[in-house]
Amino acid sequence: SKAEIGLIGLGVMGSNLALNIAEKGYPIAVYNRTSTRTGAFFENAGDLRGNIVPCASLEELVAQIKPPRPIILMVQAGKAVDEQIEGLRDLLAQGDIIIDAGNANFRDTMRRFAELEGSGLTFIGMGVSGGEEGARHGPSIMVGGKEDAYKRVESVLTAIAARYEGEPCCAWLGEGGAGHFVKTIHNGIEYADMQMIAEIYGILRDGFGMEAKEIGAIFARWNEGRLNSYLVEITAAVLEAADPVSGKPMVDMILDRAGQKGTGRWSAVEAQMMGVPATAIESAVAARSLSAEKELREAAASAYGGAAEPAGRAPDKAFIDDLELALFAGKIAAYAQGFAVMAEASSEFKWNLPMPAIARIWRAGCIIRSQFLGTLARSFEADTKAENLLLIGDFVEMMNEAQPSLRRVVSHAALGGLPAPALSAALGYFDAFRQARGTANLIQAQRDYFGAHGFERVDVEGEHHGPWGSGAAS
Ligand code: NDP
Repeated sequence: SKAEIGLIGLGVMGSNLALNIAEKGYPIAVYNRTSTRTGAFFENAGDLRGNIVPCASLEELVAQIKPPRPIILMVQAGKAVDEQIEGLRDLLAQGDIIIDAGNANFRDTMRRFAELEGSGLTFIGMGVSGGEEGARHGPSIMVGGKEDAYKRVESVLTAIAARYEGEPCCAWLGEGGAGHFVKTIHNGIEYADMQMIAEIYGILRDGFGMEAKEIGAIFARWNEGRLNSYLVEITAAVLEAADPVSGKPMVDMILDRAGQKGTGRWSAVEAQMMGVPATAIESAVAARSLSAEKELREAAASAYGGAAEPAGRAPDKAFIDDLELALFAGKIAAYAQGFAVMAEASSEFKWNLPMPAIARIWRAGCIIRSQFLGTLARSFEADTKAENLLLIGDFVEMMNEAQPSLRRVVSHAALGGLPAPALSAALGYFDAFRQARGTANLIQAQRDYFGAHGFERVDVEGEHHGPWGSGAAS
């Protein structure tokens, strides 16, 4: 046997990851359920064929890999992963490593760890981000499992990972479901980033009647500054592209109904389960769901009318600058929420997630890669005890500068009837977060009134009840 590693699942991600591995000099054995795909993959592998061993069965795959065998699963998340693990179980030997690199729900990953416990097989749950291009030329890799298991595959994973100033964007993040959990939150943050960008686009398109190309130029300029990121870069490129069929801007020809595969929703669900506010992420997930309700939205538009007529003028420079800073402030709030969810999960599941390392491996390779994450990593390193990004010095400064713009943009959107649910949620979170004396005193009084739940007083310790009288507590 000549391969050093195996891979199952030659779909979009798997085939590109396999080419990446072969290119880095690791002979790889590959298998796909539908064997014609394996053949086509090998045919198209060009010069890399010398490092690829196509296999027609799981038995052949296992036989072609040098023990102890690392085998990457890159199949559809869910049942397919369980089926492949089941199929491999009897074929593999003590010390072999199964690496699930798909977008698993981390709760499934934890179950799989438990199921493989005592089997002699090692399991790794690994999040991979960067889409097709990332898989081929360098993804961001988030690893969960035993640290010594990671050490055994570290060289190949760091070889194929993206690099940021020479540093591989790959790290062991903790045991069990840690890697898949962090990937889930990555995707939740990605949803928020994308939604807030779309809201800014909507304000320019519907609030000022701007053309896609003009809006694209604004994003292109922002990409040179503090918003520098892959998503802002591709937003500019997308907005500037023309439809080869109609000649119109491509985005204008695309139906406004967004898809989702679940990871964004999981991050909102987990945030809720842990009681951590992640409103910008939740709004982004909700916005995708609402986008899917095209017919209902059309009915509502005729019942209520849409947004106000676009202003008959171009936005002035001050407002464009406000939009840039608003997007930045919204981004800070969304990342603060995402990292707060990870901090809570880290203590709940005893992962000890390394926040600076997470920010570092997201600097390249993944969809949310940005200059901002470099600042975030440095800030977390300097202030390891910070419980929320909004309380770290650099971010306090940045938020103080940007929040008035977020406020003006959200007001502008609200007055014009332009939807900005994620930006509004970010602002609402920020304002509630910085309110030292909140309004939950009233909530506590109401709870005590109708349910005798008791409350704490500002002046005397212990549990107290209010003077609501006998009409209360029903
Ligand atoms: P594709 O749809 O391109 O490929 C799916 C692969 O899974 C195919 O190889 C398919 O085999 C295999 N498969 C599906 N069901 C089974 C089954 N029951 N038994 C065996 N094999 C099965 O998916 P992607 O490559 O896009 O995604 C793979 C994983 O990577 C998913 O978990 C996805 O969420 C994740 N991911 C995807 C990203 C992306 O940008 N696309 C980014 C990051 C992660 P067959 O050819 O026989 O159908």
